[in-house]
Amino acid sequence: MNRLQSAVVIVGGGPAGSSAAYELAKRGIAVSVFEEHSQVGVPSHCAGHLSIKSLKKLGLYPLPKNVLENEFSGANFYSPNGTKFAVCLSKPVTCTVNRELFDKYLADKAQTMGAKYFLGSRVSSLIIEDAYVKGICVTKRKQLEERVPARIVIDSEGISARLLRQTGLPLFSRNSLVYAVEAEVDNVHNVEEHAVEVYVGNYYAPGFYAWLIPRLDGTAKLGLAVKKGNPKDFLQRLFSKHPVASKQLSSAKILRINFHAIPLGGPLKNIYENGFLAVGDCASQVKPTTGGGVIFGVSCARIAAEVVIQALNMGDVSASSLQSYMKRVQNAFAFDSQIMLRLRNFFNKLSDDQLDKALRFAAKTGLASALRNIEEIDFQGRTLFSLLNKPSAYATLVYLTCLYMSANA
Ligand SMILES: Cc1cc2nc3c(=O)[nH]c(=O)nc-3n(C[C@H](O)[C@H](O)[C@H](O)COP(=O)(O)OP(=O)(O)OC[C@H]3O[C@@H](n4cnc5c(N)ncnc54)[C@H](O)[C@@H]3O)c2cc1C
Repeated sequence: MNRLQSAVVIVGGGPAGSSAAYELAKRGIAVSVFEEHSQVGVPSHCAGHLSIKSLKKLGLYPLPKNVLENEFSGANFYSPNGTKFAVCLSKPVTCTVNRELFDKYLADKAQTMGAKYFLGSRVSSLIIEDAYVKGICVTKRKQLEERVPARIVIDSEGISARLLRQTGLPLFSRNSLVYAVEAEVDNVHNVEEHAVEVYVGNYYAPGFYAWLIPRLDGTAKLGLAVKKGNPKDFLQRLFSKHPVASKQLSSAKILRINFHAIPLGGPLKNIYENGFLAVGDCASQVKPTTGGGVIFGVSCARIAAEVVIQALNMGDVSASSLQSYMKRVQNAFAFDSQIMLRLRNFFNKLSDDQLDKALRFAAKTGLASALRNIEEIDFQGRTLFSLLNKPSAYATLVYLTCLYMSANA
């Protein structure tokens, strides 16, 4: 037997890959994870802003002290000319994690259950024979390529989606991508410790938004994503011109900076093949409104692991045996993803002036108090519907729609 052989091979040691590895190893399946970097979680490109409720549902909260950075019970939204709409929640609803340590924590959990990790091991291609994915080819630190057979390959390679392309399955469209910059800054001023700052508008972040997420030591995570253009130029603009952010960042220095894309088109529908499943970012399992993909990726990875165990037990790893993965993902996320996709498209079409008016209107109608007890921020379709019986939320939605229609008539 090949020394690397396992029943299941996982490509990528991100949150999706390690979560699938954990579930499989916990049930006694021989599983190997191949990660191209020499350390799990490095380099980190993510703000690590997560819902506490969802983490609890996944059994991941409370988190170890070194992983958890801060908890948040507020959010301040700013239009490009500085109009502020503040939401103050009745208790902490979100938190930030150190993504490097979070990824390592998930990988350690999987290894404790018996999953094997091969670091510095780049998967260069899938082995496809007789219309089945039958393993992977790996290169480790300039050594010769090695073939690793497996009954099933779980692809959690993230946004690159190179192996997914090799299967011939449809990929996310390039049009659905936004290009993000994530920085760590020091010396931020005039920010509340337990509130995230969100800067909306096309002038600063066309097609998405910018964020500033404070830590407790005066440093913060700062980032934005854009549909077109160089995100670094927009970050520079935020630093120097935004009426609020420029003051908060007036003496800040960038300590670390990273660039990465985010797929916002909603989960892909055909991500299984004979002997193959895709999870996480490569399958576009990301919230189209906020770009958050950790909770969706981990949740889908768990579903994938359950389906894989069933298929292995039945001795049938064909696509028809694995298709229940897709059905279960659809049942769990399709409704909310569709609503979020519509919301994203809707917000993308609002002009900066309309966004400014909307934030003013929301502040006047008392939308903040309607939002006070919100806990669910991942399943935003359900949250939106639950809010529609609150007059201020309903009025804001109607106002936004009228604003949009009058300007685009
Ligand atoms: C700027 C930015 C901010 C974000 N902020 C948030 C946030 O606040 N909250 C949130 O929920 N989400 C956020 N996201 C999204 C989040 O980072 C992703 O959704 C999440 O990391 C996806 O997990 P994954 O396991 O699918 O992929 P990844 O975390 O990308 O992991 C993929 C792994 O596969 C490895 N790999 C790739 N190709 C190969 C190969 N050929 N061989 C071996 N290994 C390979 C990579 O090295 C990597 O370790 C953000 C994204 C960006 C870009």
